[in-house]
Amino acid sequence: MQKNFLLLSLFFLVHTGFLIAQSQESYKIHDEKRPQPKVVAHSSFSRMATAPSDAIILFDGKDLSEWVSSNDGKKAPWAVRNNYFEVIKKTGGIRTVKEFGDVQLHIEWAAPKKIEGKSQGRGNSGVFFMAKPNVSYGYEVQVLDSYNNPTYPDGQASAIYGQYPPDYNATAPTGEWQTYDIIFLRPRFDKSGNLEKPAYLTVFHNGVLVHNHRKLLGPTTHKVRKEYSAHPNRLPISLQDHGNPVRFRNIWVRDLER
Ligand code: MG
Repeated sequence: MQKNFLLLSLFFLVHTGFLIAQSQESYKIHDEKRPQPKVVAHSSFSRMATAPSDAIILFDGKDLSEWVSSNDGKKAPWAVRNNYFEVIKKTGGIRTVKEFGDVQLHIEWAAPKKIEGKSQGRGNSGVFFMAKPNVSYGYEVQVLDSYNNPTYPDGQASAIYGQYPPDYNATAPTGEWQTYDIIFLRPRFDKSGNLEKPAYLTVFHNGVLVHNHRKLLGPTTHKVRKEYSAHPNRLPISLQDHGNPVRFRNIWVRDLER
């Protein structure tokens, strides 16, 4: 009788998928045991993609006039070089002058050619949507050199930081230019500030679909998950200074609410 019960329980657990795959939402933040995304060869997909006519150009290789320091709203403190700009460590992040809600964003980045550090310490930056100035709140698509550089899966390149690893690891070799094509849909709050609809992200990393209309659990955070809290419908997009000289180029955005 007891044996039958155990067999029946086992059948039930396997059948419900409990022993086969844990649901994405059930993992702890930064869970090291979460499966590593399968590596797929990247493509040059949208590298140096020209902007559609209705896009707002956020960086065309010349200057950072569309960006300011996230800390004080003054001149963006990063270095503009030959057609790209680079994080200058300890100067803080930068954010767009314009504010956005729902967007389609194209951005290209490259981790430093010289391999230094490991895990979260190698080529770390990030693209934040709805970055509240001076407050640590936003929705981050992680930038990291995840080429032969294991880390916790929800913190690797193109992860929705602390929530979802990408479905695949499509990271290009260290130092090569790579692309993100992102559709971000902002959360909706009612007049009392209650969440009506969460935020969603769809992300292509080097032409590989890695998040397909992924529902965000809240703002992206380090170590502890936070709940949504009401914010304006339009806020800047920001890039993170995580102390590594990551480069960016060819950035444009289509405003999906105009
Ligand atoms: Mg980051």
